[in-house]
Amino acid sequence: MAVTDTARLGVIDTHCHLDPKYASKGQPSPAESLARARSVGVVGFVVVGVGERADEARHAVSLAKSEHDVVAAVGVHPHDAKAVDDALFDEIAALCKEERVAAVGEIGLDFHYDWSPRDVQRAVFRRFAQLARALNKPIVIHTREAGQEVLEILEQEGARDVGGVIHCFSEDVPFARRALDLGFDLSFSGIVTFKTAKAVQEAAVFCPRDRLLVETDAPYLAPVPFRGKTCEPAMVVHTARFVAQLRNESEALLAEVTSANARRRFAGLA
Ligand SMILES: [Zn+2]
Ligand SMILES: [Zn+2]
Repeated sequence: MAVTDTARLGVIDTHCHLDPKYASKGQPSPAESLARARSVGVVGFVVVGVGERADEARHAVSLAKSEHDVVAAVGVHPHDAKAVDDALFDEIAALCKEERVAAVGEIGLDFHYDWSPRDVQRAVFRRFAQLARALNKPIVIHTREAGQEVLEILEQEGARDVGGVIHCFSEDVPFARRALDLGFDLSFSGIVTFKTAKAVQEAAVFCPRDRLLVETDAPYLAPVPFRGKTCEPAMVVHTARFVAQLRNESEALLAEVTSANARRRFAGLA
């Protein structure tokens, strides 16, 4: 992969999925992904463990325990909400208590795919939001075509007490304003680099400097110029550069502030 032209910016990827299951599909292993990212100046990783069973969450936690620059976020993605019974909830809840788990998530609503019935998504989202509050850990939000309802549920569940991150931000400035008011930072993925993503780009310019984060959502959503390829955390430096140009800020400043924001939001990031 040609991620070679990068200065060592010191960027933190605040949302990536690194699981051995992807390696079995011909994609890089977690160790390869981490090594390649470190070599281009990625200095921290929030590895997200979700799924219809607890395996990925367990793997994310063990990675966070063995790698000094990794912390985990664990939860149940809205796609898998229908798989949540008391046993799975209890297992994920126990993992959420681990010290190296910095956040609960990704949780939320996805009304684009509707892979789980909407009522089930809502109920599971609320349950995990309540867990996050009980544990006093921030929430990582996934939302697709459900923005207003996600904000309403966060408001009703008192999520302001713990705050969190709107991951893979794909909404607009009015949504950004409400999310920020609720205590949620905005994390921009490769989507912000897409030519058609004007509203997302406006939000990236609007976002206050101390509330801005960058991520890859690897292995999904590779940024320009890698669109269509398997996304890896190393690519976060391209997203950071793009956002810096959008905001008319230096790359060094963008890297510095987003990394400081990430360390403030996710406890345990070195
Ligand atoms: Zn997501
Ligand atoms: Zn994700």
